[in-house]
Amino acid sequence: MKIVLATCNAGKIAELRRILTGFDIVGLEEFPAIGEIAETGVTFEENALIKAHAVAQGSGLPAVADDSGLCVDVLNGMPGVFSARWAGRHGDDRANLELLLAQVSDVPSDKLTAYFACAAALALPSGESRVVEGTLPGGLVRTPRGSGGFGYDPIFVPEGESRTTAELTPEEKDAISHRGRAFRALAPIVRDLLAS
Ligand code: IMP
Repeated sequence: MKIVLATCNAGKIAELRRILTGFDIVGLEEFPAIGEIAETGVTFEENALIKAHAVAQGSGLPAVADDSGLCVDVLNGMPGVFSARWAGRHGDDRANLELLLAQVSDVPSDKLTAYFACAAALALPSGESRVVEGTLPGGLVRTPRGSGGFGYDPIFVPEGESRTTAELTPEEKDAISHRGRAFRALAPIVRDLLAS
């Protein structure tokens, strides 16, 4: 059975294919008419559901969508859903990270706790839907390290690790990441719902 993942990101499509075996996972590039979907929600769950419903309606197929970000405790959970556009422009990873570091420059290092969060949603063309969340707790470092990953990875150290997520291999990051956890939690739900 075909499932559409609400992204054109080849890495995310490959990750979901590894987790949701037995399904034909395709990306949004197969449905160019769907176009850009505005993320108008104020929580990760809301945004994941908005995208999954839009793609299920637009494609006529079951759709999976995710929404994720970094939540910093001393910033009351921000950047949160604004992670991708924290410095004002969507997807400027370097500017987002530098602004965040500037904002917490006076905060003692042991107070720089944070977590990555990801909501993963499944929506059916009938309108039925489910959403789950995965998190990765850790802390921030002030000096970016590592060349892997993207976004805030060079300044995030998972709990129990000494390396940043940008210093982990992709397999190591997949095994513990908020996205890996959310997709793995969604997999049995997808199987149950699509079997019934
Ligand atoms: P999206 O859910 O893929 O749109 O990601 C939202 C934003 O959150 C990204 O642009 C990054 O700034 C941040 N983010 C989400 N997941 C990660 C991650 O695994 N590493 C680093 N940054 C992330």
